[in-house]
Amino acid sequence: PLSKIIKDHFMRGIILRPAQAVNLEEARQIAAQYGWNVELKEEEISDPLEMLKVKYEKLYGDESKLVQRPPVVTVMGHVDHGKTTLLDRIRKTAVAEKEVGGITQSIGAYHVEVNGKRITFIDTPGHEAFTEMRARGAQATDIVVLVVAADDGVMPQTIEAFNHAKTANVPIIVAINKIDKPNANIDLTKQQLASKLGLVPEDWGGDTIVVPISAKMGKGIDELLEMILLVAEMSEIKCVPEGNARGIIIESELDKGVGPLATAIIKDGILRPGDYIVAGSTHGKVRALRDEKGRKVKMAGPSDPVQIIGFEEVPDMHEILYVVDNLDQAREISAFVKERQKKERMVKGKRHVRLEEFMRVSGDGERKTLNLIIKSDSFGAVEALKQAVAKLETEEVHIETVHSGIGPVNSSDIMLAAASDAVVIGYKVKTDAQARSQAEEEGVQIKLYEIIFDLIDDLKKALEGLLEPEE
Ligand code: GDP
Repeated sequence: PLSKIIKDHFMRGIILRPAQAVNLEEARQIAAQYGWNVELKEEEISDPLEMLKVKYEKLYGDESKLVQRPPVVTVMGHVDHGKTTLLDRIRKTAVAEKEVGGITQSIGAYHVEVNGKRITFIDTPGHEAFTEMRARGAQATDIVVLVVAADDGVMPQTIEAFNHAKTANVPIIVAINKIDKPNANIDLTKQQLASKLGLVPEDWGGDTIVVPISAKMGKGIDELLEMILLVAEMSEIKCVPEGNARGIIIESELDKGVGPLATAIIKDGILRPGDYIVAGSTHGKVRALRDEKGRKVKMAGPSDPVQIIGFEEVPDMHEILYVVDNLDQAREISAFVKERQKKERMVKGKRHVRLEEFMRVSGDGERKTLNLIIKSDSFGAVEALKQAVAKLETEEVHIETVHSGIGPVNSSDIMLAAASDAVVIGYKVKTDAQARSQAEEEGVQIKLYEIIFDLIDDLKKALEGLLEPEE
């Protein structure tokens, strides 16, 4: 039953929702847990985007065609620790030497050349962006530079940034910044890195590369860049250098004059004007490409940041960009994704089951199932309730206790209720504050009782469709 799958996953910290689309890999994992195999027959994939992904995985998965590509680097860290200053400094030292007149960067990424090798920097995206991209199977970043101010040490957002980078399995280089400040304490910062994050610096016998810098004074910058190149070489950052491009949208906007604009980092292949493109629910034909300085370019290759003009609508940030063979295909895929997103929004926007409406809302004919989550203050009470509730079952209604437990109604009860479309029943317990606001947000009903008779009476009435709505 769906509720069992949802519950089993919930117990392992994975939230699944009814009618939620899962990708092939997830489908395989789910099936495997119940002893089933999922076999893919290509002509049976009805999701054209998934089909495209599979095709590109094959195309780009060919080891023999892979070559090294420049690393894409994201600078992360606690607010005010110097991320912006560092990005500015790198841009100045590495770019301005060659380019007189200081052309301003017009998109959220730029590249530099160090000893004849390229590095692409993305302007700090939020940590969430990182995780969101991963959820779509995309990763814009190859290396994270974690900036920690030497006068402030490891702070909450340092830890957050570290966690995101770590879950994404991206190599981390630490830049200890602001070493010019009189109260800078490099040793203390290293100690915190080791104790709070488990990042033990190389000179302390660990394997974390730590570079002391002053973004403001320009100290240590060259060394940091060299370390980035070194890590890039060791991490085997590869791509397929030719063929249809694949990339990741890192920013997008609607320009009044030009129309939809999107910036992408190309991961594989070459993007050219005239290419048919698709990114999630939007598609188009590349009318023009611009580099980070706003200059028109004829092509963009792996790790290049590029601004694309030609999308019909503004694509979502963090979508994967694909080049496809023709306009029809681009149109078909984007229309499909749009339709699916619409359905997902409808499912999401729907309020969950309520006792008062249960009989009326759930369809006629088949036996209906009322899902419950039961919370109480003791083991005995929970067991007694489960049994009492089971006895209320009728020919028309099956009652499924998807979860039961001791203690106040908490936020994981609400998430499970939302995922399995259940009503939460509490007997002699309260709802904690977080759970209450979450329930409101998710449209989950919580019914609390102090008297068992009231509880049973309400359920009975609900099953007869006679329970009056609450005020
Ligand atoms: P962000 O919030 O991480 O982007 O931090 P910013 O780059 O905006 O820097 C925050 C403040 O720290 C600014 O006032 C910078 O001038 C200052 N700052 C950044 N790097 C250094 C540095 O190496 N030394 C000193 N003394 N100040 C710095």
